[in-house]
Amino acid sequence: MSESTSLRVAVDTPAHTAISEPLTYLGDPALPAGTLVRVPLGRREVTGIVWSAGDAPEPGAAVELKQVLHALTSLPPLPQRWLELVAFTAAYYQRGTGEVALSVLPPELRKLDDAQVRQRIARLHKARAAALAAPHAAAHTAPPLSEAQQRVLGELAQATSQAAAPTVLLHGITGSGKTEIYLQAAAEALAAGRQALVLVPEINLTPQLEARFAERFAGRHIVSMHSALTPAQRLRSWLAAHLGLADLVLGTRLAVFASMPRLGLIVVDEEHDPSYKQQEGARYSARDLAIYRGKLEGATVLLGSATPSLETWQRAQEGRYLRLSLPARIGDGALPRVRLVDMNQQPRVKGGAVISPPLLDALNQRIACGDQSLVFLNRRGYAPVLHCGDCGWKSACAHCSAWRVFHKLDRTLRCHHCGYTERVPKACPDCGNLDIAPMGRGTERLEEQLAELLKRPDGTPARIARIDADSTRAKGALEAQLGAVHAGDVDVLVGTQMITKGHDFRRITLVAAVNPDASLFSSDFRAPERLFALLMQAGGRAGRDAAQAARSEMWVQTWHPQHALYAALRGHDFDAFAATQLEERRMAGLPPFAHLALLRAEAKTAEAARGFLQAASRLAEADAGAAGVTLYQPVPTPIARVADVERMQMLLESPSRQSMQHFLAWWLPQLHHERHARTGDQRILRWAVDVDPLAI
Ligand SMILES: [Zn+2]
Ligand SMILES: [Zn+2]
Repeated sequence: MSESTSLRVAVDTPAHTAISEPLTYLGDPALPAGTLVRVPLGRREVTGIVWSAGDAPEPGAAVELKQVLHALTSLPPLPQRWLELVAFTAAYYQRGTGEVALSVLPPELRKLDDAQVRQRIARLHKARAAALAAPHAAAHTAPPLSEAQQRVLGELAQATSQAAAPTVLLHGITGSGKTEIYLQAAAEALAAGRQALVLVPEINLTPQLEARFAERFAGRHIVSMHSALTPAQRLRSWLAAHLGLADLVLGTRLAVFASMPRLGLIVVDEEHDPSYKQQEGARYSARDLAIYRGKLEGATVLLGSATPSLETWQRAQEGRYLRLSLPARIGDGALPRVRLVDMNQQPRVKGGAVISPPLLDALNQRIACGDQSLVFLNRRGYAPVLHCGDCGWKSACAHCSAWRVFHKLDRTLRCHHCGYTERVPKACPDCGNLDIAPMGRGTERLEEQLAELLKRPDGTPARIARIDADSTRAKGALEAQLGAVHAGDVDVLVGTQMITKGHDFRRITLVAAVNPDASLFSSDFRAPERLFALLMQAGGRAGRDAAQAARSEMWVQTWHPQHALYAALRGHDFDAFAATQLEERRMAGLPPFAHLALLRAEAKTAEAARGFLQAASRLAEADAGAAGVTLYQPVPTPIARVADVERMQMLLESPSRQSMQHFLAWWLPQLHHERHARTGDQRILRWAVDVDPLAI
């Protein structure tokens, strides 16, 4: 090694501590920023990333600095813009730089030495060369475009040529041909010698999208990135993108951090989907980071949705994003007619009828003519709670402030928050009453009820399939059930919102939401936005085949048929819905008109958690006001106790994103000391800040 110089190296250290920023080591001055290295940290040897050349060490100080041990020189350094993306993420979401950097790299990189990495890279090059030499299937040509698609592509091309890195909202209803726009935009990027990144909210959606891209881009190298990959697969995909061998990367939120040296296009499909928000560690929004990254890389960012998030919609209204619309369905497919069933007018049935007589008739009619229906209810299990009519006992979880759900199939009571599971008791544990009964309904019970009530024309019971987190736990179960639906072996598909996303069901002409009202009056300010998106998306499952479109219907059972949300749904009128919601948000000082952060604390007792938040609030007292940040009182989280841990939260609000950022950067390091100062029964287990939280 030549003369050593001081280098800043990012290592995985906790946030808000003195060592959360890159540390200084001595190393070879020829090592460029972005090189992976092994360095000593305390008594351990850890992986780090050379962040930048440090200031020259003071004479005498050098003896105290530790040496970089090895460098992974066979791996091309991480690009400067990637380092900037990570540094921004760490600063914005208030985490350590190295913590974020190392958590978004494939874990295998920490285990391999230089020779092993060289070997993996050689193998990838060899495989790519072999793939290029082999004859491959001809790429599918693009289908004829609709007028609207041609117009959108023209406007997109114009925007891309005029602005360096435009952010574009593609607002298109389900079935309007958004994917074709993604494909053509990707083709443009590839033709210009650049790479394209396509983000989808859920792993389930990657295989079908991958198939469409693979057909269109035969001969191009496409890789996927999501959490279901093995560590070896994940490393292969990551290396292919990093080396520039992969032209297209398809993946879920983590893929926003894929190292791509020639990135030219980022597509965020279903940009409104809450799955883009990470819920632990650095709680980043992959959608928001995609927009930031686009600016950094000079890449076009295409946000697609039938029901854009109100943040995105508002920015498009303000002209900060270009808005392109695909207003009609491809191939004359009409949108389903929306029918509201006023449950106040329906006969009352003991235990609460879950399927009203008119909906039942409609379902039977569909079965009679060979159509399929989809019925969804956002509650899995048989019943949300078991109840004793004599003494009022309910199946509470002993460890959470929640009820345990009754699962009839295996006769268990299961807590969906902590997993605590028991056999159903034979009698009421409090009074011994033998007659304990389920209250309310989940998908299991809905399936049972429909099987009793619905008949095929020959008098045999209707064929019902259920898709939810319980029925699809076994590997391959989801594919098998979807296969049965596509093959026509199912009359009615019952499930949670899992069945409303992305699947292209050709024979479904009726979609029914059985009990969606709860979201109208939820304390979660985003609940109506999510409900509207869910219902529009669910409705989009009906009548995707033009031949059936005319008779496709979306049924909604509601106790509030006059609600503005349902009126907008009836007209498939996202603009009207967004306008009312945005007005409410403006009045209430909520996003996108204010910037929020949540400070959460967990402890064995609510008092300890509250005590920490109050102390944090006192620390901020003088400065928060001056900084333009409002702190609210600590309150319990919506489910306050999970697995015997009490959870409290405190809301922070500011009209200015920058003020919020400055304040958090000043305040949070002090909380680290506050936490350590609290001992005994005041001790807290965990605390974390969530910047731009989805729910409050
Ligand atoms: Zn009882
Ligand atoms: Zn529990």
